[in-house]
Amino acid sequence: MLPLVVATGNPGKLKELQDYLIGLNCELTLKPSELDVEETGVTFLENAYLKASQVAKATGQWAIADDSGLEVDALDGSPGVFSARYGKSDAERIERLLTELGNELNREARFVCAIAVAQPDGTIALEAEGICPGRILHQIRGAGGFGYDPVFYVPEHRLTFAEMPADLKHRVSHRGRAMEILLPKLHKLLDDIAPNGHS
Ligand code: IMP
Repeated sequence: MLPLVVATGNPGKLKELQDYLIGLNCELTLKPSELDVEETGVTFLENAYLKASQVAKATGQWAIADDSGLEVDALDGSPGVFSARYGKSDAERIERLLTELGNELNREARFVCAIAVAQPDGTIALEAEGICPGRILHQIRGAGGFGYDPVFYVPEHRLTFAEMPADLKHRVSHRGRAMEILLPKLHKLLDDIAPNGHS
């Protein structure tokens, strides 16, 4: 099994990645807690590169990182890479978003997720980006999920992310779509570097 360090301190994210990567010939571990990477990139992909590359170099192992957030057209793409820093809690972030949008008629938005895999010397080996288009509602709907889920409405399914059963969100979300693109590439990479299931 190839050890693959997940560039996050969040055990929830580790679990989520484990679910997506089930059956793959790699063993995920959390990055050391003292290792902090500043997210200074101006795009999701840049931040995913930074995190994967620095964690790989610091640990001397393969590393995987993701970065995600919400882009709202009428706010010129905000909160974007600042999605997590838009307020102190999910409730505060949603309130700020709805206040800034006010009665704006253009509610078009999208969630974006970028994922990068780096080899032990920090070089980026794989990348993938997934997008889920939707609209920002005027008020919250649904009790599931996290973050901006209760105000993010997906017209194709007539549900907010917070109203979707977990397996549906898993499939249609920006993260699910990025994973769908990454998985075949990761399979091939693992076959190339550990052809018989040995690292
Ligand atoms: P990060 O990728 O963990 O840095 O997440 C960035 C921020 O984007 C999160 O803190 C959430 O506020 C928001 N976000 C990312 N993905 C989702 C999602 O699937 N639902 C709701 N909010 C999300």
